[in-house]
Amino acid sequence: MPYVEYDEVGASCAECGRLFRSAEDLDAHRRESHVAARTAAPAKSRVPTLACSICTRKFYSVAALQDHTRKDHST
Ligand SMILES: [Zn+2]
Ligand SMILES: [Zn+2]
Repeated sequence: MPYVEYDEVGASCAECGRLFRSAEDLDAHRRESHVAARTAAPAKSRVPTLACSICTRKFYSVAALQDHTRKDHST
């Protein structure tokens, strides 16, 4: 039987689309990659309060603002 790599992929992250072999792997990924943004501010009260000083975009977190600045305003 030929080995098919993606046969074993069992779960995909709903937030970033990454694929994982098991629910446990997905769980660990979500804890590491997505939980910080959630615990920082509950979804209902999330309002973008950080404004970029270069353009008019607003962001939920300092990390997101810094990421934006790096990506969109890098020289
Ligand atoms: Zn993800
Ligand atoms: Zn900007």
